[in-house]
Amino acid sequence: MRDIMTKAKWLLTISLFFVSSTGLQAETDDTSPAFELVVLGDSGGIQDGNLSAFLLRSVTEPNYVALDAGTLVNGINQSVRQGAFDDLAIVDDDKWGKAGSILRHHVKGYLISHAHLDHINGMLVASPEDSKKSIYAIPSVNTMIGETYFNGKAWANFSDRGIPPLLNKYHVVDLLLGKTAPIANTALHVTAFSLSHPVESSAFVIEHGDDIFVYFGDTGPDIVEKQDKLDAIWTYLAKQVKHKKLRGVIIETSFENERPHNLLFGHLTPELLMGELRSLATKIGGEKPLQGLNVVISHIKYTLAKNVDPRANITKQLDDGNDLGLNIIIPKQGQKLLF
Ligand SMILES: [Zn+2]
Ligand SMILES: [Zn+2]
Repeated sequence: MRDIMTKAKWLLTISLFFVSSTGLQAETDDTSPAFELVVLGDSGGIQDGNLSAFLLRSVTEPNYVALDAGTLVNGINQSVRQGAFDDLAIVDDDKWGKAGSILRHHVKGYLISHAHLDHINGMLVASPEDSKKSIYAIPSVNTMIGETYFNGKAWANFSDRGIPPLLNKYHVVDLLLGKTAPIANTALHVTAFSLSHPVESSAFVIEHGDDIFVYFGDTGPDIVEKQDKLDAIWTYLAKQVKHKKLRGVIIETSFENERPHNLLFGHLTPELLMGELRSLATKIGGEKPLQGLNVVISHIKYTLAKNVDPRANITKQLDDGNDLGLNIIIPKQGQKLLF
């Protein structure tokens, strides 16, 4: 019996080797997930405890990078409760509980899209118990974070730059637009692009090998902003997808279609998002080039108003306008998603 098992194992090893050496492995990789995403905060606007924040990792390693950090500790706690980290081999730490261990050992850095409080609040308030790591942002965002929060008034300066005294917990890294940089202690690389918003915002193209995932901070559409910032990203991505695989995109849809353009304040509606993605599709070319693309909708504005449900309306408007065949995902806090 044992002999048969050994022989079966040996045959399996040989056949797996054969598959990978004939190049079929690449096909297998195409359908198996490349990235894991944990939703720490799913909404824009006013509900503390559930503001824009995601954790992303390559499935090949236990190390995440945070994509914005509007909500951090509450998001990790919610995600722990919902089992989002059940497959993660969490470092066993004598001093820190599960959420503390995840934050301190498994979140290796922050990609901050812009300095608005709803994208950074969680990181600021968690900083006293966080571990040393890097904050990655485009230069204007890093400057604004330093001047606005890490100034010894709004908050102590936990970074290694700007107004003294410096607590040196966070190493501030400037991402130069369009230049690819490594994310320390992960196998990920990032390329930043500028976005149009009342303050400069940014998008991050994150790569692991031939797999790409894109995170957009708050952004207005080119047509309203009278800029071509999204157009520049679509051009870049259209070129990338010729030889790499776009696994998913997180992009905002803050308001419903009925919102007047002069009251968007640098945000998107379902219609305007579809317009932008059509522009990407045109640049890629061919028939339905975005068919099945995973598009995670972030920053739907939460409201305390009575008898309105922006989430339901936006979901319906996105579905109605989805002539590109996108796989639209409305994320929920605490969820784990694979791409
Ligand atoms: Zn904003
Ligand atoms: Zn925001």
